[in-house]
Amino acid sequence: MCGIVGYTGSRQAYPVILKGLKRLEYRGYDSSGVALLKNGELNVYKKKGKVAELEEFMIGKNIDAQIGIGHTRWATHGEPSDRNAHPHHSANGKIAMIHNGIIENYALIKQDLVKKGYQFTSDTDTEVLLNFIEDIQTNNACSLEEAIRIALKRVTGAYCILIIEKDNPDTIIAARKGSPLVIGIGKGEHFLASDASPIIEYTKEVVYVNDYELAIVKPDELILKNLGNEKITPYVTKLDMELAAIEKGGYEHFMIKEIFEQPSTIFDCLRGRLDAKEGLIKMSGVDENIEHLMNANRIIIIACGTSWHAGLVAEYIIEELCRIPVEVEYASEFRYRNPIINKGDVIIAISQSGETADTIVALEKAKDNGAFIFGVVNAVGSSIARISNAGAYTHAGPEIGVASTKAFTGQLAVLMMVALDIAKHKGSITEEKYAELLNELESVPEKVDAILKNADQLKAIAEKYKSASDFLFLGRGYNFPVALEGALKLKEISYIHAEGYPAAEMKHGPIALVDENLPVVFIATKDLYHEKIISNMQEIKARKGKIISIITEGDNVSSEISNDYFCIPATDELIAPILTVIPLQLLSYYVGIAKGIDVDKPRNLAKSVTVE
Ligand code: GLU
Repeated sequence: MCGIVGYTGSRQAYPVILKGLKRLEYRGYDSSGVALLKNGELNVYKKKGKVAELEEFMIGKNIDAQIGIGHTRWATHGEPSDRNAHPHHSANGKIAMIHNGIIENYALIKQDLVKKGYQFTSDTDTEVLLNFIEDIQTNNACSLEEAIRIALKRVTGAYCILIIEKDNPDTIIAARKGSPLVIGIGKGEHFLASDASPIIEYTKEVVYVNDYELAIVKPDELILKNLGNEKITPYVTKLDMELAAIEKGGYEHFMIKEIFEQPSTIFDCLRGRLDAKEGLIKMSGVDENIEHLMNANRIIIIACGTSWHAGLVAEYIIEELCRIPVEVEYASEFRYRNPIINKGDVIIAISQSGETADTIVALEKAKDNGAFIFGVVNAVGSSIARISNAGAYTHAGPEIGVASTKAFTGQLAVLMMVALDIAKHKGSITEEKYAELLNELESVPEKVDAILKNADQLKAIAEKYKSASDFLFLGRGYNFPVALEGALKLKEISYIHAEGYPAAEMKHGPIALVDENLPVVFIATKDLYHEKIISNMQEIKARKGKIISIITEGDNVSSEISNDYFCIPATDELIAPILTVIPLQLLSYYVGIAKGIDVDKPRNLAKSVTVE
């Protein structure tokens, strides 16, 4: 995962890099470092811990340089420590490199290098690649650029690397495969980063580097080449993002800011696509490919983490409305088995970052087998967006809190519109139901707003249960994936063990956990299964479990059984997940805060999982 930043130009490089690393910290934060180059002197500074610790460490150091690279790490090879932090030096001290990704065949390369007398100062795969490059450069007496090209042809795995060289006073060489890289084009300066957030305040002109491309970046020049040393014309695009979107705007954490942004992010997602009055959904990605989608033999949804939960909701919705069989797959499982994919299958890939490593490879595999790929992605211009044959952006804006919130509700809104659009074309939905769901969907931002106004109720509930060691989340039907998502959110940012389960299924195991110490969160809004879930609540109550329920306004039966409850406005059961997840996001946030956890940077996690 990890965040990388580079700068070459006439400004002081360090402040640009430091600010950039802070913006990219969501990608990894177990250690960080910078390499600065001036007058043939290459200084590397690195420190275990968050970027703030590096900043403190840098006080009094020589930071005068107009070129440099910086890294914030999410360790894969070697524990988080000063010595494993990036940048790394090559053995002869002439080159410094930062790396995002994993070099899978590092062990073999390392063996060879050790035989040749190389000694390593870290446990990372990164240092192996770096010395491999140095070794090639020495043996072949070639340029650094050529050595990088040769090395990259021999490594397997994923990388985005930035390299600077003592004897090359103004050049950064960068390359990627599988890990993202954006280059910002300024006047007489260039900015390199894992995403656009470190770049946005300097320039809006950017180039997204593709896999197997190498960039030679000087203040006044950007040369792109493939690994065969052929030049490629850089494709410059304009960033559609404002600085305010990536700052906290007065909130204490990004996570709470992003939770509270949801009325407007969902509105933005629906805007221009949904018109309930006219009875219209216009999604060009769907409309232009309607034959593929409508006539799909089946739909396979591929995702990881929270996006996988959105996929489960979509499975229920698409099967109900479109009558097309749907399967939901974890990308990491799908890619390594031998899945049956036929022409006529449609893959829906869901990803916030659009850079999820497992999802990308799974998609490439499906595409090779002739499937049509539809991407549901938040990050504009990301790898998955580019691999997809068609798609729809969630338009939630940059999501920085590590626990996904607004991206999830954006995914649900997009998937609902996709299902409605297909169903309408296919004729598998009645006019009345279509009109009713359009109206309901249009009213979601307002209802989310109403839920957020009562956030304090959840703060009080969080305070009451913050010391529990386990939680159970139960839901049925459309709310079952929300139970999974609620449990995941709580684990991520409060470190409390939590399980999500279909409410009826809990009798096949988790009920054994129930005693007076176990809080059980029921997502029990009024729907087809309402009476069934009330029975499940009674079963928990009979065993003295503590019931916290998310219920529909006016549901006195559920509120009476519950120890604590939170009401949401009435809505159609297909739409309910977009609303019921909001109180669960808030509950997790407030439990995390009550336990003093850094909810934007919970331990061991990183936002954009660009390694397998
Ligand atoms: N594999 C490298 C390491 O463990 C890079 C990890 C990252 O992407 O942060 O240091």
